[in-house]
Amino acid sequence: MRKLREDQEWALDQLRTHIAAGHRRIVMQAPTGYGKTILASAVVSGAIKKSNRVLFTVPAVSLIDQTMEMFYQQGITDVGVIQAHHAMTNWDQPVQIASVQTLMKRTMPECDIVLVDEVHRWFNVYTKWLDYTTGWQCPVIGLSATPWSPSLGTYFAGPRNYADEDRKPCLIVASTIQNLIDEGRLSPFRVFASSHPDLSDVSTVAGDYHEEQLSKAMQRGTLVGDAVETWLRLGENRPTFCYAVDRAHAMHLKEKFEAAGVPCAYQDGNTKDADTRNKASGLWVDGRKTIRRKFHDGEIKVVVSVGTLTTGVDWDVRCLSICRPTKSDMLFTQIVGRGLRTAEGKADCLILDHSDNHARLGFVTSIDVSYEGLHVGKTPMHSNRKDDGIRLPKECPKCAFLRPPTTPTCPACGFTAKVVSTVEAQAGELRELKPKPKPVPVPRDLSSTVEREIFFRELKAHGIAKGYNANWAANVYREKIGSFPPAHFKWLDPAAGVSPWTQNWITSRMIAYARSKRPAPRVFPYRPPTLL
Ligand SMILES: [Zn+2]
Repeated sequence: MRKLREDQEWALDQLRTHIAAGHRRIVMQAPTGYGKTILASAVVSGAIKKSNRVLFTVPAVSLIDQTMEMFYQQGITDVGVIQAHHAMTNWDQPVQIASVQTLMKRTMPECDIVLVDEVHRWFNVYTKWLDYTTGWQCPVIGLSATPWSPSLGTYFAGPRNYADEDRKPCLIVASTIQNLIDEGRLSPFRVFASSHPDLSDVSTVAGDYHEEQLSKAMQRGTLVGDAVETWLRLGENRPTFCYAVDRAHAMHLKEKFEAAGVPCAYQDGNTKDADTRNKASGLWVDGRKTIRRKFHDGEIKVVVSVGTLTTGVDWDVRCLSICRPTKSDMLFTQIVGRGLRTAEGKADCLILDHSDNHARLGFVTSIDVSYEGLHVGKTPMHSNRKDDGIRLPKECPKCAFLRPPTTPTCPACGFTAKVVSTVEAQAGELRELKPKPKPVPVPRDLSSTVEREIFFRELKAHGIAKGYNANWAANVYREKIGSFPPAHFKWLDPAAGVSPWTQNWITSRMIAYARSKRPAPRVFPYRPPTLL
């Protein structure tokens, strides 16, 4: 079993704390590339050790085998599969993997803990189990990189006769895209907003663009040709994923790429793993495995695709051509996520945005920290970007590079918009301007006892690590919460690690303390531990 990293230990620790405190409906948010499966394996093997039975659900039959492979790689072999005629069917195994499609036809198998993978894809059958079949005692843990689907928090709130604090939808943010980029686990990215489609006559259905109308709008005028032209001009011949609206749009793009001499393939959710023979023409069609091999060999430069869920997770993609406008933070984050995998010799991911998604939604690094909890009720979150603290990027008028709104000079071409100002720009200042948005710590709500326990345990861990006085944690806790921790907190174990949010707060508190003390006379023998 692979050893957990410190931040994964921390996430696991949070999970345990919430479960110990009685929470039964928990969602864990972790970006693609975090190692969510390794974390899930740790949860599963912990459960097996305590003789508990685990049900792991996946949203598609096609994901069963790769999930099982992942468990095997982590040394978990007591696995059975719930799916008609599957070779691995074995009801005696403590871990059962099932697809939602199969479970819809059956009653819920008996189990002690449920892990729901890709929980943002919500199925009615989940609701049925959550309230009736499993009872409240069985913990249900949802996993997702984008747990922002409407009403997810309502589904996770549980029966009404439980205490409000228990019913509070519980979201643990294991890490953020920006954190992973800073740690070198995800690739940084550069964006050019190469064209601006006119979508004024495309209607909205269920929160996103009407697909058929969108496909037509994206094939109007020179849009398709522009996508190819931009790729030839800026794409650096990189292995590229191109996202289209639907099959017709994708075929149009493929045709134009091929006409320009760029070898191109198409795949979607129906593309089989193995090569298949077209019955009508008798010709062989490349399956997913062949396309992947050709893509990595350089035989194919661009893969045009519709949909994102099951394909390309482990492909070495270095450029994204986004021709799929969306209003969905989830879809957009998944699309960009496909390009952020790190690889040898890959300095960054190049994004050619023909969809205005960045102008509409912001950088993905701002989106995934802006959700402070699971969605409850009817009003959609993020109806107004500004209110949600998402500042939209600015486009360079000269080269179409997208930069954070606070960056006046274009990092790509050096162009500076003339600003009427009495202050002359210092040449040296340009150095600091990087195309990287500032990391925003994941916000924490300290109103519940559980969150306060976690906070206190983190303070304890920090105090021990720094060798502070035993009362330090209680004192700073009071500073934040307004009262001393309840007596029983003293028996809590220190946390396995300190979250970035708590770390930030401790640091800022130290800075504020040091500042407030600056002109004061020297106090001894106590010296405040400044600037950790
Ligand atoms: Zn520029």
